[in-house]
Amino acid sequence: MDKPDRLRRLEDLARAIAYRQALIRHEYWPRTKLEELQQRRLAELLDWATRRSPLYRQLRDTHRISQPYSLQDFPIIDKKTYMEHFDEIVTDPRLRIARLQEHMANVSGDEYYLGQYRVLTTAGSSGQKTVIVFNRKEWSIQEAASMRIASMMGVLPFSRRRPKIVTIGSPSPLHDSYRLPLSMDIGLYRYDVLPATAPIEELVQRLNLLQPYILRGFPSMLGLLVAEQLQGRLHISPCIVAGGGEPLTGELRKQLHAVWGSSVFDIYGTQEGLRAMECNLDQGMHIFEDLGIVEVVDEDNCPVPDGTLGHKILFTSLISFTQPVIRYEISDMMVLAPEPCPCGQPFRRIIAINGRNDDVIYLEGLAGKEVAVHPVHFWNVLESFEAIRQYQVVHEPDGLCLRLVFAEGNGHIAASVREQLAQKLQALGVTCPSISVELVTALEDRSRNMGKWKNIVSNVDRSMPVGANH
Ligand SMILES: [Zn+2]
Repeated sequence: MDKPDRLRRLEDLARAIAYRQALIRHEYWPRTKLEELQQRRLAELLDWATRRSPLYRQLRDTHRISQPYSLQDFPIIDKKTYMEHFDEIVTDPRLRIARLQEHMANVSGDEYYLGQYRVLTTAGSSGQKTVIVFNRKEWSIQEAASMRIASMMGVLPFSRRRPKIVTIGSPSPLHDSYRLPLSMDIGLYRYDVLPATAPIEELVQRLNLLQPYILRGFPSMLGLLVAEQLQGRLHISPCIVAGGGEPLTGELRKQLHAVWGSSVFDIYGTQEGLRAMECNLDQGMHIFEDLGIVEVVDEDNCPVPDGTLGHKILFTSLISFTQPVIRYEISDMMVLAPEPCPCGQPFRRIIAINGRNDDVIYLEGLAGKEVAVHPVHFWNVLESFEAIRQYQVVHEPDGLCLRLVFAEGNGHIAASVREQLAQKLQALGVTCPSISVELVTALEDRSRNMGKWKNIVSNVDRSMPVGANH
């Protein structure tokens, strides 16, 4: 990296440290003050977007949206539409998707695009890859949010003992789990990123050398590492373990705590800038609402009350002015807490994420009727078996296949797993579900996407009527 880039990184980080102070102050605000801040930032964002983004200018005119703008006047945008209109959404006409693709193909570290942008892409685990661009100021806010996450885990910048933070994440600088540490690795913390796609033996060896104070990773990876520790190959004792990118189950949380004695935190984040994180009271993940607005809605896009499971969420970023993210559809099905957290922070909390709505599997029920089986039903059964380290449910035209990774010597319980799942499905109205079990030592690479597993995979084309294959 040449010198100007290093200087820019330092400037970006210095700005982030100032932003972090502001973020910490918000944590002590009353809810009303937070909502005022949201409304002020939203008004700025909507005003900016309708003036500077060709798509939003056009939407304002066709939908006849007038000042003062209300968020609900704006149409919902899904990932596919968002990417199709990328060039018209961005507020800098120099940003063109074709050029950005060329840039992304050549990124090997923390390179700037046009000297001022960082370009990321999503893992695409919900099927649609998106491209996200942050200008330097916006990136500093991402860095500040990352520092807030560290402080919520009890790690402060400039502390005398710089703790070693090891993230096992995407090996790509186009993903924020790698790019953020890379851009901030100038002395505040000691960061290492290990690729989640590396063989487990290699990860064990590296971790034994690194001895992390904080270990972050996808829960499926943390589950594998706990097994390695129990089997005597891994010897680490992280004080803090944080999971993210996949659901952190109650069973895994118990294991992580029991094996390493660590404090365990669950973190939620999307590359578009939505972040949520547990406080140390373990009462759900606090949404960083000073940086974004989350609407939990049903299938018809109507808001659902707190305490109720939504079908998806709509996310509006209050900090993305380069590439406005307004009522952007995210397929996670979540429940927000109806009460504020006892810790006193003004943020609303995610108390459950029941998978993605595209993880729902449709099986044949009585009289040929389709039964929508929610991923939570699979978790409920599979999580109740302590010996299951990892799982994948594959929906094939002729039935379900459970691909299971067991703790050593526990393969014999496969039959009872199958039996319990069959009972569960029958109780839901699924008729004679055909379930096969495949015992595997690790889930294969082909099911990984930037190091992330997909727990529910469907190889059935839903456009075919149910039962057509029987
Ligand atoms: Zn709290």
